[in-house]
Amino acid sequence: MDAKLIDGRAIADSIKEEVIREAAILSQEGINLRLVAVQAGENPASAVYVKQQKKNCEKAGISYELKSISADITEACLLEEIEKLNSDSTVTGIILQMPLPEGIDARKVQAAISVAKDVEGVNPSNMGWVIYGRPFLAPCTALAVKEIIDATGVHLYGKEVVIVGHSDIVGKPVALLLLDKFATVSVCHIGTSEAGMLEEHVRRADILVVAVGRANVIPGEWVKEGAVVVDVGINRVGDKIAGDVEFDSASKKASFITPVPGGVGPVTTAILLRNVVKAAKWTKNR
Ligand code: NAD
Repeated sequence: MDAKLIDGRAIADSIKEEVIREAAILSQEGINLRLVAVQAGENPASAVYVKQQKKNCEKAGISYELKSISADITEACLLEEIEKLNSDSTVTGIILQMPLPEGIDARKVQAAISVAKDVEGVNPSNMGWVIYGRPFLAPCTALAVKEIIDATGVHLYGKEVVIVGHSDIVGKPVALLLLDKFATVSVCHIGTSEAGMLEEHVRRADILVVAVGRANVIPGEWVKEGAVVVDVGINRVGDKIAGDVEFDSASKKASFITPVPGGVGPVTTAILLRNVVKAAKWTKNR
């Protein structure tokens, strides 16, 4: 079988069109979308990301501002900065760029972001709504994975889903989102791999989601005939970007597969914009 490529850019474009429409309606109601990204310390990798975020926001009618803070900020001062943004009614969304400088408890700062401005879905309260089966401002990449699976038209009910990677922003919330569709979900990680059990799990997957961050960690040969493969990984290999799944061999077995780049990445970006709209509407109705 030759897999159908899942076009993440096309899915993202349709989400962005919806965001532009919604932003225009909110603006007519006097609500102007304003996203503030907080970055403590310099990070060359996130500089590229921030530039891209700004461009995407502005195209969608969302004003974007980067708040750069010195790397020697204390945790208490950073929490104060977050509080200022929480109480500024012109700010409708807050992003906290990772990593934070050493000595700052990222979880504590994430928990301080107002739940209604938490467009990355990292506040424990928003994470909690995912557990309750009522995701709202959920982590963007997890929502992107769900959106991509929905776009294939494949039903999750009763399917074997295997997720490789158990991070708080991808693997764990994806597991919960898909569990609520009555898929049978297994979550694998380094422990599964070191126990020599990864192949056995992956071979069972009707839907395989991989978020590890190691190029070719999943050989295409392991992919079940007809599986849906969602590759979240982003790895620099020489001068190219590659996913976590051996793409060429996996494409011969899967029914649908996401490319890297052009798969999960653009959908994640678009979901962030959608979350900015959702957050503003939530604030409006509170
Ligand atoms: P992470 O880096 O926090 O955790 C990695 C996970 O992989 C852990 O669960 C770990 O146990 C597991 N793991 C490590 N080695 C393994 C192995 N050999 N076999 C099986 N499991 C193994 O994860 P993350 O933050 O979710 O990031 C994962 C990847 O996804 C990275 O490449 C990251 O850049 C990418 N990512 C992409 C997007 C996007 O929008 N496309 C968003 C977030 C993350």
